[in-house]
Amino acid sequence: MMPLLGDYQPIFNDTGKTFTEKQMLNLAEDVVGIIIGVDPISRKVIENASKLKAISKYGVGMDNIDLEAAEKKNIKLDNTPGTNNVSVAELALGLMFAAARNIPQAVISVKEGKWKRIKGLELTDKTLGLIGCGKIGREVVKRAAGIFKSIKVYDPYFDDNKFIEKYKLQMLDKDRLLQEADFISLHLPLNNETKNFIARKELSLMKREAILVNTSRGDLIAESELYKALKNNGIEAAACDVFSEEPPGDNELLKLDNFLLTPHMGANTKEAVEKMAAAATRNLIAMLEDNSAGGVKD
Ligand code: NAD
Repeated sequence: MMPLLGDYQPIFNDTGKTFTEKQMLNLAEDVVGIIIGVDPISRKVIENASKLKAISKYGVGMDNIDLEAAEKKNIKLDNTPGTNNVSVAELALGLMFAAARNIPQAVISVKEGKWKRIKGLELTDKTLGLIGCGKIGREVVKRAAGIFKSIKVYDPYFDDNKFIEKYKLQMLDKDRLLQEADFISLHLPLNNETKNFIARKELSLMKREAILVNTSRGDLIAESELYKALKNNGIEAAACDVFSEEPPGDNELLKLDNFLLTPHMGANTKEAVEKMAAAATRNLIAMLEDNSAGGVKD
């Protein structure tokens, strides 16, 4: 047993996959604490978990937890901000390069015995539009400042003037950002207000050559509208690490050449995994041992 866990007896998810609601129902029924990634902690799971005292999120976004149901049962919650922001930011930039230069398509073509040299786009002299300038968005800015001509941001809650000045950010409203950016990267949380944040209207405002990157949450984008925009050349390309349903199954987006994807691996680096695991375990023990611990952090 790991010393950090003291007398607690851990049960591990050895499947290598995110649990379904049914699996979570079985697991949560008999435990006092739980560390979760994106596994669903629905109202049903919480109501059925009679001994559960604390939920520790391995990561940041809390959208897979029914927070109201947890609060009603006085279940403590905590998360691990600042542990994976660099990794997700680096993947977002990687997806921008991959989409601009068609890197995955080129790799596949050579492996299939072809020599398809696809003409791409440069990032230099282009405008990056960032939606959400929190922990991950700021790490993107720090790196993107050395690549793009300009960085424009939409985040109505962001007011760090020093940061804005340092990186010469232009703060815009949502519509103007969508109209003026060549690359658009999403770094905002999923909640009731941001579901379908990018839908038909937003896609129609984007430039024909725009490249959209989503490493936040799948439901921020209306996927059927994105499919139409990509198929009809409304925008150049999109690259997503996240989907409304994961894995995405027979999602029609997967059939498009100008749609790139990765399997929700933004935080999956050696560095971030170690930091998230240690922080999530420490948070769980603190919540179980100390009556005052817990509380979701920004
Ligand atoms: P954060 O809370 O530090 O930053 C979110 C930012 O979004 C804040 O600055 C906030 O003001 C802004 N925001 C909120 N509502 C907005 C709106 N309606 N319009 C524009 N901006 C808005 O969070 P973070 O650590 O930067 O993470 C961002 C998201 O990334 C998370 O919520 C999570 O969903 C996702 N994420 C994905 C992975 C992955 O593996 N792909 C890993 C970690 C986090």
